Amino acid sequence: MADSTATIDAALMDRWIRAFAAAVAENAEMLTRLDSAIGDADHGSNLARGMKAVLAKLDGSPPENPAALLKLTGMTLVSSVGGASGALYGTFFLRMATAAGTAESLDQAGFAAALRAGVDGIVARGKAEAGDKTMYDALAPAVDALDGALGGEDFPAALRAAADAAATGRDATTPLQARKGRASYLGERSIGHQDPGATSAALLIAAAADTLA
Ligand code: ADP
Ligand code: MG
Repeated sequence: MADSTATIDAALMDRWIRAFAAAVAENAEMLTRLDSAIGDADHGSNLARGMKAVLAKLDGSPPENPAALLKLTGMTLVSSVGGASGALYGTFFLRMATAAGTAESLDQAGFAAALRAGVDGIVARGKAEAGDKTMYDALAPAVDALDGALGGEDFPAALRAAADAAATGRDATTPLQARKGRASYLGERSIGHQDPGATSAALLIAAAADTLA
């Protein structure tokens, strides 16, 4: 059975968000390079600016529970990031916040449910389906892997399985033709390029595996 005693409180959630911000900063050039091939060359700079704004907010007034932290993150991304990814990642964190409710901490199943609610929010907002060559192609397999592993694996192994699934989903976007977002305007010319949003989404799940277990 999974270890159900591990809990994710605001401090641990803070570590996750900071680890994602660090990964985005480190990989901003790479993300923008990917977006220059099939978009408008701003994904890395967009997200880096947004996550920098999130860190400034977190430093200013540390939120007291997971939902407050997730809400602050989502609202800051929506207001500071232009482009599709600001609205989509913003919605993701806002939906996670709603799912977290007023809890002081989330257990593993609670975290997995919140993550799924966030991904459902991205779908509600952007209408992406599997195989459309978007961030959803990294996130959907990740939440499925997390749910699938939680019954039998301990939490670190379950999160690692989710991160691996996100990376596999990211890689699988390369041969796809984009059907959503700016890249879809390229039609067949979007084939052969890794999707920038799926790439940043894999960083988000990898950061969870690195920090939450
Ligand atoms: P923009 O395309 O507005 O410049 P970004 O470059 O920051 O925004 O983000 C592009 C990424 O957003 C894409 O690589 C893709 O993963 C994601 N994306 C775009 N549209 C959608 C959508 N409708 N649903 C899910 N993800 C999307
Ligand atoms: Mg772009």
